[in-house]
Amino acid sequence: MTNTYKVTVLNMGHVDIESSLMKRGWNCGQMMTIPQPCVAVEGNGLKILLDTSYRSLAWIDEYCGAVNNGKDEDDGSLVTAMAKIGWKPEDVDYVVNTHLHYDHCGQNNVFKGLKTKFIITRTEWEFAQHPTPNLVYCYYPHLFNIESANPDQIVLIDGEYELADGIICFPTPGHTKGHQSVLVNTEEGVVCYAGDAANLTANLHENVIGNIIYDTASSIRSLEEIRRRSEFVICGHEPSLKNFQSGGFARTHEG
Ligand SMILES: [Zn+2]
Repeated sequence: MTNTYKVTVLNMGHVDIESSLMKRGWNCGQMMTIPQPCVAVEGNGLKILLDTSYRSLAWIDEYCGAVNNGKDEDDGSLVTAMAKIGWKPEDVDYVVNTHLHYDHCGQNNVFKGLKTKFIITRTEWEFAQHPTPNLVYCYYPHLFNIESANPDQIVLIDGEYELADGIICFPTPGHTKGHQSVLVNTEEGVVCYAGDAANLTANLHENVIGNIIYDTASSIRSLEEIRRRSEFVICGHEPSLKNFQSGGFARTHEG
């Protein structure tokens, strides 16, 4: 990998969630506040967004029954957050969805009809149409189907995929059937955007998975793979992440 990219966290907001969902067996019954970030990647003449967070807190309230203590950053809008780093929706070349849970593809619709291509694993796309009963509550097809993206914008990939020189999507199944994570070459080193393959940095450091899980064994293998392939990590719901943070990310390996 030769090209380097600038990586910036864009956080749409926070919600509260029961702690052991993020790290199995941890603080059971106690709520914790987690961010709902996406990641902007820029360089090599490309603008790439990793995930699109939730649609809105009102959407979560309507479709998921309740928002636990939800708080937007600014107005919770991806367009607003992107404007702060000088991006317009029509500039974005690719959106990579790590998976299709509602808090990771919620604002895909911002790019409907534009040049943007959505990079999604075929396995995740197919699973999202017919999820297993334990995960039905995480998938809402209108967030990613023709209501939010034109068919010619959807690129379904199989296995590892080099999106650009210095950017690799690779399978990290477990949290969902077709989850992927993204390696980005930066001046500091290789940063992995883990999505929810690791909700928290602690999942990687302590080798403990979360509790919203499609498959336990592959979840643990995915943690190993992230540690093997990256120096730094941005986890899907790590509370210490700062909005607009663009360096100094947590080390994949503790110490
Ligand atoms: Zn998530």
